[in-house]
Amino acid sequence: MSRYMSPRFDGLEAYIPGEQPQDMQYVKLNTNESPFPPSPAVLAAVNAAEAEQLNRYPDPESGTLRKKLSAVYGVRSENVFLANGSDELLSFAFFAFCDENRPVAFPNISYGFYPVYANLYRIPYTEIPLREGFVLDPADYCGLGKNIVIANPNAPTGRAIPVSAIEEIIRTNPDHVVLIDEAYIDFGAESCLPLIQQYDNLLVCQTFSKFRSLAGGRLGFALASEGLISDLERIKYSTNSYNINRLTAAAAMATLDSSEYYMENRQKIQANRAYTTAALDELGFETIPSLTNFIFTRCPKVEGETLYQALKARGVLVRHWNKAEISNWLRVTIGTREQMDIFLDHVREILKEAG
Ligand code: PMP
Repeated sequence: MSRYMSPRFDGLEAYIPGEQPQDMQYVKLNTNESPFPPSPAVLAAVNAAEAEQLNRYPDPESGTLRKKLSAVYGVRSENVFLANGSDELLSFAFFAFCDENRPVAFPNISYGFYPVYANLYRIPYTEIPLREGFVLDPADYCGLGKNIVIANPNAPTGRAIPVSAIEEIIRTNPDHVVLIDEAYIDFGAESCLPLIQQYDNLLVCQTFSKFRSLAGGRLGFALASEGLISDLERIKYSTNSYNINRLTAAAAMATLDSSEYYMENRQKIQANRAYTTAALDELGFETIPSLTNFIFTRCPKVEGETLYQALKARGVLVRHWNKAEISNWLRVTIGTREQMDIFLDHVREILKEAG
């Protein structure tokens, strides 16, 4: 920190994103991207004609895209908010709805950005421990009297809770915002989106980064009551009116026209998830049942850090955290069948070497 930085950021620990190494070609199973490129329609949409307009600012309302997205999800444009990745959306939401008198609670093992935003905005926060086996007990959140953030399915565990449990949490915290981060919802869990018609304190966050193969385009979106959406708009227009760039908007429009392509990719991911889990079962790994595009798994013989390093040395990147409760676990993104076979072959060899 230089001597010019405001002391209010003393002690702020920034989020550390998963490695994006530029030095060599890894089998990249560490940041839950889709292994599949955007659809051919997306590649065609992000063209020279679109680039030619980059001298002009984009539509600050992203009206066309919001309209299309609202039609896809059966809501009104007023129920949709767009952000530069769901990370920006989360940042706006923490900023808009929480402060020193409006604390927030989230699980102790969840998306690592939640405590970072809380610290950045000086929001008191409670980390509620998951139960045995990384199970979230909805009772821990009912009538809590705080803003609540829950990733469903959770990351990095991959576990999901049912919509009925989420409804109980929303219903019993009517004076607080319940943010459900559905970054991984498209890989098999049930969305709580229909509940926004009934509960004006529910904020559902989704992203184009995973199922829709657009992590590099940076597009996240919220679905919620008109009130919460206009609050987010207010923060956006006080931060950056043009947070969705032209090329991303064009890519997103074409993405929404290619649902068949993405559904096929989803099936492949689900099949590869089952395949990888079964292969790891045979090797004695313990794997948490996942409804996402990643698995959370533990090797009986080799420690988490050691296995992570050994895989990296062999050109396979997975995600590992030094946090005590999960230091023996690895989060492995589900890639193509070929990538999973390379991963599994290396795991088998490493286990053999370990004896
Ligand atoms: N929420 C969760 C639970 C995530 O794992 C991620 C991806 N790292 C995000 C939000 C942010 O995704 P993006 O900003 O790419 O939309």
